[in-house]
Amino acid sequence: MSNSVLFFEPIFKEKIWGGNKLRDFGYDIPSDKTGECWAVAAHPNGQSIVKNGQFKGQTLGELWENHREIFGGIQGEKFPLLVKIIDAHEDLSVQVHPRDDYARENENGELGKTECWYILDCDKEAKLVYGINAKNKEELDEMIDQGRWADLLQSTPIKKGDFFYVPSGTVHALKAGTLVLEIQQNSDTTYRLYDYDRRDQQGNLRELHIEKSKDVIEVPFKNRQYELEVQNIEGMTKTRLIQSEYFTVEKYEINGYSDVENNTPFTLCSIIQGEGKIKIGEEEYHVTKGDHFMITSEVKKYNLQGNFAMVISHV
Ligand SMILES: [Zn+2]
Repeated sequence: MSNSVLFFEPIFKEKIWGGNKLRDFGYDIPSDKTGECWAVAAHPNGQSIVKNGQFKGQTLGELWENHREIFGGIQGEKFPLLVKIIDAHEDLSVQVHPRDDYARENENGELGKTECWYILDCDKEAKLVYGINAKNKEELDEMIDQGRWADLLQSTPIKKGDFFYVPSGTVHALKAGTLVLEIQQNSDTTYRLYDYDRRDQQGNLRELHIEKSKDVIEVPFKNRQYELEVQNIEGMTKTRLIQSEYFTVEKYEINGYSDVENNTPFTLCSIIQGEGKIKIGEEEYHVTKGDHFMITSEVKKYNLQGNFAMVISHV
């Protein structure tokens, strides 16, 4: 059996802010408070399990340990990426993630966390928190200490198809009514800066990490929104979402039949709409909305057919 394409079993995480929109991907979610689908993960808090082929039943982490050849033999102690779908039924806390060096020193060797968001869907007037207004460190600390959140936080209206690059150090929050595909460095380190003073059913506030947040927030904020690069080729519209030091992310909208050259160590794919086929030589896989899979380094060329959209990422 070949190792060309590995499909993964999704992992679900219930969250106080979660909802039930992940059902629209055909998932059997545990409750109406399901906040995250970990689609491709090799982290102690969630390990994707392979659904097909000779590696069926193994975790992505095990494959990374023992079969580095299917990842093009690239170096690194940890699998570098984590792909999630997030259903924010309620506002998420305002947060920031550390850089690699800070996380390594202060979080038991964790990686930093740069992430990005593709907005799969959102409510009509939906917004998110992206960036801050403080001009320097002194002003930042003062605004935080005085709880001047409305002055500090930048709020941005969003619509379906928008894309945000969120480097470590960027203050951010998803807000209610937002469904997002998130691609990030393989890390689970979050510093909670502000939680809208919400209390849980027992009347408790959630823990905040004010000092660590102050340490890692980039000030002044640099807005990294930019014009996306769109390319029309035969059978497909290709949109470059981001090319950064941690990952490259693209959207492929297939309409018909398209050949793709593959020269990356591995490619993570998430079908976000429609259905179709992926063909590699004689092998053929049916793919549909909600599928997540990895194309291994063995594949030098593949063919996409049908009417669907997928977001691909690689290092
Ligand atoms: Zn985040």
